[in-house]
Amino acid sequence: MTFPSYRDRYLPAMTLRRIRELPDKAWAPVILATGAIEQHGPHLPVAVDALMGQVWLCLALARLPAGASCYVAPPITIGKSNEHTGFPGTLMISRDTLRSQVLAVARQVRAWGFGSLAVINTHGGNVPVLVPTLREARAAYGLRAGMLTAKAASGISAQEAAFGIHAGEVETSWVMAAAGRLVDPSKAVCEFPARLGDPGLVRPVNAPALAAWASRDLSRSGIMGDATAATAAKGERWLEEGAASLAEAIAEVCRAGRAEPDPGTRGP
Ligand SMILES: [Zn+2]
Repeated sequence: MTFPSYRDRYLPAMTLRRIRELPDKAWAPVILATGAIEQHGPHLPVAVDALMGQVWLCLALARLPAGASCYVAPPITIGKSNEHTGFPGTLMISRDTLRSQVLAVARQVRAWGFGSLAVINTHGGNVPVLVPTLREARAAYGLRAGMLTAKAASGISAQEAAFGIHAGEVETSWVMAAAGRLVDPSKAVCEFPARLGDPGLVRPVNAPALAAWASRDLSRSGIMGDATAATAAKGERWLEEGAASLAEAIAEVCRAGRAEPDPGTRGP
């Protein structure tokens, strides 16, 4: 796989004059990747979530349709990962710190003249913080703000779709395709936190009664899913599908921005 660069859209690589004179700041979103550094089982590097943010950016930005544009903020690579406490290799910040960092980026890119912030998040534990924080940024700074989501992997089993939540078939396949030398498939195992059809309704995800889980409660290996089913070929296909959907989502944000170039002036 080629790994195209997005450096010509990376804001920290620009001079202040170039940033000042960008002609499309009112509608071209600034993309902020939020990830994590946390255990991903015995077969994957701890940087998977942070790495995947960069992979999605490289692949999606190379596929932007004509007329679409965007810029890239420096990523937030350490996330809210307290669910992985107790495994070596996990770094984390608190939910308050994550909120503060996202608001700081939102406030300042708005002050530079940008009208839109779009987050590509690759760590599920960040979501409960990001959703209200982006709403807060919208209300406080008059900035369009939201999240871009890649199309879910197609063709996986119902068991993996429901309970393959961490370092399983999909994530392992992605990394095998994007950075295969970082994966040790000989260490991959299948370990699900629950099985479809299990008795009882209390589950970590996808159940009527959700438990506030920590990885240690659910998995000995750190894997929650079937990492043994992963292949680089699946990863190539899922990355392609996901990147195409992200590129289209960025184009849609651009269209919305052009239709309403000054979000800050909307009435109460
Ligand atoms: Zn992950």
